[in-house]
Amino acid sequence: MSVDTLRARFRGQILLPGDNGYDEARKVYNGMIDRRPQVIARCVDTADVIAAVEYGRENKLLTAVRGGGHNGGGLGVCDDGLVIDLSRMRSTRVNPAARTVRVEPGCTGGDMDHATHAFGMATPGGTVSTTGVAGLTLGGGIGHLTRPYGLAIDNLLSVDMVLADGRFVTADKKRHPDLFWAVRGGGGNFGVVTSFEFRLHPVKMVTAGPTFWPIEQAREVMEAYQKFILSAPKDISGFFAFLTVPPVPLFPPELHGKKVCAVIWCSTAAPQKADKATKAMRKVGKPVLDHVGPMPFPVLQSLFDPLLPPGLQWYWRADFVKEFSREAIAAHYAQASKMPAGLSQVHIYPIDAAAHKVKPRDTAFSYRDANFALVIVGVDPQPANAPMVTKWCKDYFDAVHAFSSGGAYVNFMMDEGQERVKASFRANYDRLARIKKKYDPDNFFRVNQNIRPA
Ligand SMILES: Cc1cc2nc3c(=O)[nH]c(=O)nc-3n(C[C@H](O)[C@H](O)[C@H](O)COP(=O)(O)OP(=O)(O)OC[C@H]3O[C@@H](n4cnc5c(N)ncnc54)[C@H](O)[C@@H]3O)c2cc1C
Repeated sequence: MSVDTLRARFRGQILLPGDNGYDEARKVYNGMIDRRPQVIARCVDTADVIAAVEYGRENKLLTAVRGGGHNGGGLGVCDDGLVIDLSRMRSTRVNPAARTVRVEPGCTGGDMDHATHAFGMATPGGTVSTTGVAGLTLGGGIGHLTRPYGLAIDNLLSVDMVLADGRFVTADKKRHPDLFWAVRGGGGNFGVVTSFEFRLHPVKMVTAGPTFWPIEQAREVMEAYQKFILSAPKDISGFFAFLTVPPVPLFPPELHGKKVCAVIWCSTAAPQKADKATKAMRKVGKPVLDHVGPMPFPVLQSLFDPLLPPGLQWYWRADFVKEFSREAIAAHYAQASKMPAGLSQVHIYPIDAAAHKVKPRDTAFSYRDANFALVIVGVDPQPANAPMVTKWCKDYFDAVHAFSSGGAYVNFMMDEGQERVKASFRANYDRLARIKKKYDPDNFFRVNQNIRPA
């Protein structure tokens, strides 16, 4: 198929190098990524996706699939080949009676929250509203609602997909159950998802916001946090973080530029219960800020968006962790103390409670026995500082990795090689490789944390 034939079959936009808008369209969220595809196919519907897959396959092009474009390693774009860009496919449809929402693959978390909030409902997504629902869900989906309602994939009811041979299928627990198992954590390895259907929960207001402590108190706070969160009721949640207080009006000027450890709370319990349940933790040591109160769920989800615009330099490292020993906590404190000024951060997300109701073999996401997903991110607006934040991130990881469970959440990884991908799927890898062979034997979809066909 020639590019002219593709254009004739296409409702969306085909962008080639030199076209107006090409340079904008090849940018992804991480400013460190600078790739130049041969063709960008901006789809508006499933027919466009089928045409683009056929074009890529017939021309043997390296093909990347772009949802929200937020992937740290830039897996939504490639050099030389084809980008199947889904960012224009952003419709949503809530079914309030059935308590479900259907979203197209270009939707961000913010698009989905906006749609469902009007009905007083939500489904688990991430913690930053600009992240794509597609990539986030296919890798697992960890966020503020993980403790009460599980990972994003635990609420996924069905997907529509275009496979490597151009076939269209719907996968759920009854139809193509092997494929449905694999897409719940196995990433974009098996085809292009053109629609996601999720279960909704009654979440409108949450009790949320940050508590900050000076970083010098981190050992005491981290130890108390671990104990607290692992025994808290599932409707009480909050993730632990190291960060530098940004100079914005949300925070008192005397804290601006100070390194802190924090808990970013989000409880779905009634406000009085949430306040009572978290009080003891919020009084550990001497907090310097405690800004917790009721807020609409989408407000929490977009609270930090303005601080994290697209185009910053990002370098990521991650691990799953079962438990933080005293020694591990000391190592974290030592590395976090060296955190570069600015936007670099460390997040420790609890992935217990509802996420533990699903067993390691039930979905491709295998670390159901880990209690935390750790992510270390070096972030800076200046390209000249990229090597510095990268070095800090790698050094931090090297100092704490030995205390981890071995693998990492695939959505928090850069390009770290095949062994690391295998370590992240553990015993599920072989089954994933067999399913990959069945649905994508030539590894057409390989711009991802790649599972090689068995
Ligand atoms: C600021 C920020 C905050 C984040 N916070 C969280 C968080 O709270 N929780 C969390 O779990 N993760 C979080 N992440 C990580 C996020 O889940 C990953 O970056 C994820 O890959 C983003 O998905 P995307 O669709 O935006 O990415 P893209 O870059 O578009 O795609 C990522 C991968 O998914 C594949 N893919 C995308 N769409 C499809 C599709 N429709 N069909 C098949 N394959 C597809 C791509 O081929 C690629 O391999 C965050 C990332 C950022 C940058």
